[in-house]
Amino acid sequence: MALILKGAPAAAALTEELRARAEKLKDVGVIPALAIVRVGERPDDLAYERGAMKRCEKAGIEVKRFILPADCGKEQLLDVIRSINADQALHGCLLFKPLPDRDAEAEACALLDPAKDVDCITGGSVSAVFSGQGSGFPPCTAQAVMEILKYYGYELKGKKAVVIGRSMVIGKPVSMMLLAEDATVTICHSKTGGLAEICRGADYLIAAVGRAGMVTKEFTNPEQVIIDVGINFDADGNMCGDVLFSEAEPLVSAITPVPGGVGTVTSTVLAKHVIEAAEKKYRIL
Ligand code: NAP
Repeated sequence: MALILKGAPAAAALTEELRARAEKLKDVGVIPALAIVRVGERPDDLAYERGAMKRCEKAGIEVKRFILPADCGKEQLLDVIRSINADQALHGCLLFKPLPDRDAEAEACALLDPAKDVDCITGGSVSAVFSGQGSGFPPCTAQAVMEILKYYGYELKGKKAVVIGRSMVIGKPVSMMLLAEDATVTICHSKTGGLAEICRGADYLIAAVGRAGMVTKEFTNPEQVIIDVGINFDADGNMCGDVLFSEAEPLVSAITPVPGGVGTVTSTVLAKHVIEAAEKKYRIL
């Protein structure tokens, strides 16, 4: 039986810490605040928005929403970003992606004030995550993986980490973050040969693919810790991860559940980044 690495205790501990930091900001007249920009009514954006608002409220962060119609013009979106940049009372901005207009998305990301980029959409933040130099927050989901490992006390130095997935929101940044913790990192993707064998050698296996149940018992070893980032839905409409949980769980040392794992921590990480952005602005650290 594996240890089940639930996200809730990690999120609760982090939220408690954030509340104290938000209070400290309020003591000097600063109310930490997040701008959420949503274009259209995509169900996954709405679900994340609800979670983010709830988590921010618990951490003592105000949220201001900017909601635009799916067919809004590029200038309308850019005007919203400009107004967020100019608003001294807003410390972070979450822009839901992908946008229907990819050209507008790229311009909006480039326009956002890097100091307010709490989910790694600007070039400066990406550079900071990949170079290890400069300032900028990593993507919230990638950071959530690291927060879970930290909360449960795992040591990464000298360990073998295998990441399945190479997207710019999860696979690549989390690989860099594991590397920064001195893990030896292997990045796998859809063209990787002998995937199960590579994964079987991992001390830490991070699955960020988006394919229900693709990680089976052949990918595991008894000492392994699995972090399942995938969010998928099975034939009955139930949420599930990339790992075939019933098969892998009895064979590994520890595993995150889906739901109730990484996703639970992601919105708390967003709150953490907003608090840090406000602290940096007012040099309260
Ligand atoms: P993505 O952009 O579609 O990337 C998926 C990656 O998986 C790609 O690098 C792809 O390889 C690789 N892949 C696809 N099929 C594969 C296979 N058969 N074998 C090995 N690798 C394969 O997805 P994403 O945005 O990174 O998201 C990944 C998952 O995380 C999704 O389920 C998403 O819903 C979930 N997610 C979770 C959270 C959370 O808070 N828990 C937040 C965001 C997303 P190629 O590069 O070769 O195509």
